[in-house]
Amino acid sequence: MRFSFILLAGGNSHRFKSKLPKQYHKIGGKTVIEISLDKIKKFKDIKKIVLVCNKKHLKFLKKIKLKNVSIIYGGVTRQQSTYKALNYLIKQKEISNVLIHDAARPNFSKDLIKKILINSKKNKNVIPVLKLHDALKAKHNKNKLLNLKRENFLVTQTPQCFDLKNITKLHKKNKNKNIHDDLTLIENNKIKLINGEKRNFKITHKDDFKLFKDLCRSNMKIGIGFDVHRLVKNKKLFLGGVNIPSILGTLGHSDGDPVLHAIIDALLGACQMGDIGEKFSDKNKKFKNVRSTILMKQIISEIENRNFEINNVDINVITEQPKLKKYKNKIINNISKLCKIPQERINLKAKTTEKLGVIGQEKAIASEVIMSVIKND
Ligand code: ZN
Repeated sequence: MRFSFILLAGGNSHRFKSKLPKQYHKIGGKTVIEISLDKIKKFKDIKKIVLVCNKKHLKFLKKIKLKNVSIIYGGVTRQQSTYKALNYLIKQKEISNVLIHDAARPNFSKDLIKKILINSKKNKNVIPVLKLHDALKAKHNKNKLLNLKRENFLVTQTPQCFDLKNITKLHKKNKNKNIHDDLTLIENNKIKLINGEKRNFKITHKDDFKLFKDLCRSNMKIGIGFDVHRLVKNKKLFLGGVNIPSILGTLGHSDGDPVLHAIIDALLGACQMGDIGEKFSDKNKKFKNVRSTILMKQIISEIENRNFEINNVDINVITEQPKLKKYKNKIINNISKLCKIPQERINLKAKTTEKLGVIGQEKAIASEVIMSVIKND
């Protein structure tokens, strides 16, 4: 089966009461849109991703870098936007199913997506729902409430998964009705209900966004790293994976890059995965003269496998020589590529020790790093 994913992000956020629509608000450097898309991109079965945007939001959209995402402009209503996206998808090759999701629900877990994909193998329409736990009343008139049986009610969530051809056909047939959700179009006996998630709530008001922020922060971990290398003649100097012209270079078992080593240690610390010495022993010949960029790539792939993602990095390079001003952007750019995060989330500071100690006497160079990671599950 070949799945596709529609993210509906064209809403005006009237109830959110902010000039910036809620889907473009950021948490840890990422917009609400990117938080959903980054999780979806991890699923190999999802072959095509469509983001439906509002033309009026173009100036906000332009600021986000989106890879492997098709962007289309939505209609006036949710229904029109969905239909436009479906029409686009139906022309793509070999897409059998579509997950339709509201951008206002960025806090779904990957497990929920897994469950939807698995259930879609046997069911054309898979819908996550929640039971109600609060007492439920209906307003009868000004002074009277009617008691309702909460067992008779369910709350539906997104993503909802449908057979692409079928849902497109139904949308076409009901084009002129004002339908609020796609499920309305499906006959009841053809729906597979699965358990939704409380955490997958819809961000409607500012309070909801605050709750979402708090949840993201509760998944954040911090790590610290430090490294120092001797400076000697006739050796190269690598900082953050960039070869810096210098009379003195670092002595080390590997290429002796103190910045990347401190980053690796901070990363391992934040993810509670030990330290650089345990991962790449200096007794192991395999790592003799190895470029630290290679070690870094290995660690990044290990943390990705454990669902960690880097949030931000703050780096101090402590050295008397050479002056780093000229190379700062190049180093940040290289670290951004290695860490797979935008440059805006990296900060690099060059410090001296006012000629004091071994660093002041140009016998050593050190780096310290603090970084935060987010665990996505
Ligand atoms: Zn080192």
